[in-house]
Amino acid sequence: MRSSADSLVRIEPAQAHQRFTVALVGPPNSGKSTLFNRLTGLRQKVANYPGVTVEHRLGQMQLVRGTQVDLIDLPGVYSLDPRSEDEQVTHDVLTGRREGTPKPDAVLLILDATNLGRHLMLAAPVLSLGLPTLVVLNMADELQNRSGEVDVAAVARRLGTPVVLASAAKDQGMEAIREFLHGEFAVPVAPELPMVDDVPKCRAWAARVSRGAYRAPDPPLWSRRLDGVFLHPFLGPLVFAFVVVAVFQAIFTGAEPLMNGVDSLISASGKWISTHLPASPLRDLLVEGVWAGVGSVLVFLPQILLLFLFIGFLEDSGYLARAAVIADRTMARAGLQGKSFIPLLSAYACAVPAIMAARTIENKRDRIATILIAPFMTCSARFPVYALVIAAFIPERQLLGPFLGTRTAALLGLYVLGFLAAFVTARLLKSSILKSSRAPFVMEMPPYRWPTWQSLAFRLLDRAKVFLRRAGTVILAGSIGLWILAHVPAKDGVAPPIAESLAGAAGRTVEPLIQPLGFNWKIGIGLITSLAAREVLVATLGTIYGIEGDENSAGLQAALQRDLTPGGAVALLVFFAFAMQCISTIAVVRRETGGWKWPAIQFGYMTGLAYVCAWAANRIVSAFI
Ligand code: GDP
Repeated sequence: MRSSADSLVRIEPAQAHQRFTVALVGPPNSGKSTLFNRLTGLRQKVANYPGVTVEHRLGQMQLVRGTQVDLIDLPGVYSLDPRSEDEQVTHDVLTGRREGTPKPDAVLLILDATNLGRHLMLAAPVLSLGLPTLVVLNMADELQNRSGEVDVAAVARRLGTPVVLASAAKDQGMEAIREFLHGEFAVPVAPELPMVDDVPKCRAWAARVSRGAYRAPDPPLWSRRLDGVFLHPFLGPLVFAFVVVAVFQAIFTGAEPLMNGVDSLISASGKWISTHLPASPLRDLLVEGVWAGVGSVLVFLPQILLLFLFIGFLEDSGYLARAAVIADRTMARAGLQGKSFIPLLSAYACAVPAIMAARTIENKRDRIATILIAPFMTCSARFPVYALVIAAFIPERQLLGPFLGTRTAALLGLYVLGFLAAFVTARLLKSSILKSSRAPFVMEMPPYRWPTWQSLAFRLLDRAKVFLRRAGTVILAGSIGLWILAHVPAKDGVAPPIAESLAGAAGRTVEPLIQPLGFNWKIGIGLITSLAAREVLVATLGTIYGIEGDENSAGLQAALQRDLTPGGAVALLVFFAFAMQCISTIAVVRRETGGWKWPAIQFGYMTGLAYVCAWAANRIVSAFI
């Protein structure tokens, strides 16, 4: 190690039993996470920095000579110039200004050896921090395969800090990294570093460092050919549309058996509890409140994991960067940028992961706009509600022969309705309170790669943990609350009929407000309970009508037909298309925007729009039928 840089100033380790904090820094896709997983194994946890949405991972390594290393995996960045939250956090941690995170004793700077021309630029600001730094040139295997070359000793000499060639995926070079981490750290002494924020100077400096010491690998021919198709002005959008439809289809059909599996697992365990526990209010709360409530959320885990599996695959393979270029043209018409496309796409499954996915958008105003319109996309929780009301009120007739029936058309119409609301809202926001100059869309095209199972598995594990922890707590509290409200005030230890419970009273309180939309107090309770999650409406109506809660049962449909006019039915559909009936979404918007302001605006706007449009729908339909 030491031989690779001649002029090092050595710092002697202070104690025999040492504990160091080491930060992993590098551009996105340089292989940081892969290296982090390789070094720490499963001794890691995900945490959020307080006040910001940036996630980081902490891991521990035990080295042979009794040294313990706490590794921090920082967000991927191209510079330390704090333009995005990711860069700000990385900058703050490295300079010891992030509260609660100790200033690192050393840095592992991970760069993609196949893309050194661009990645070396990050070395300038990182080295000028003056922290002991090991530069890891990752992807050595690929560099070699594509006959690129790098003179490690020459680069180390010019950088004034040790450099290793490694492959995190192929487990090469790990010994050298562990050796460095033993702590005989030395401060880099790179001659004449450029000014940190000066991009042209950094580029010139990086070019000087690699001159004669680096030969970039040629992009392989097949990669250029793929780009020719994916970025083609006509073929590109076609491929793109095909990928979108295929992903949707795969999520809906692929998740179905898994969701049914989770569903029957939950109801079976619920039944087991109700037969094995003595009858008591506590048992009822557990079965009807906790199991039914939390269960309705858990059912969506397979869908969400499947979505992240596809996104992970598309991202790791390099396609997503190309898709964003294609989507950029359509997004521009709504005033948004190409990067909004991924979150909005995923919002069709569920707004919660979609809103988290908006983190990739650096421009804060674009990010907020994307978060605000995401819940308009038709998420899967609306599906049971749509299916029930459509089946009850729209007779099935053929429209385009066997290809399109009236019910499918109604369902598609509701999807389009949500999309239009999102589009118009985005235009409104981007031409008023969230106006920002449209940043030129510069995005580095990562090389095409076959994603590794390991990296996909870690993504899913991360997502599953976040989903279970965050959404689970909100729904749990909500479910318990609702169950209690439907059972009080008890008379002589007997729960009242729903109409006389607090829940019933709540329904009757909102009745005057929703009567103009064609809804009565029973629908009113459903509207309130469905604030927790939209599909709860179906279960609530089932309970209220005293029918076993199967949304496809003819009994529930018949009861709805008695209770709703056709105008009220259409109004209910429109209301659910627009209203923000989802506590998890509100909670996640609050977390992602760091306060109550935006979720409050969003809730007011969506509910107001839903109310006005549902009212109009009721009036118009009632005038004709
Ligand atoms: P990060 O964004 O910097 O955390 O990068 P990841 O660790 O997610 O890696 C990006 C992609 O590169 C993943 O598909 C990895 O499997 C792949 N990758 C990481 N290290 C190597 C490597 O040394 N060689 C090759 N061929 N691929 C790698």
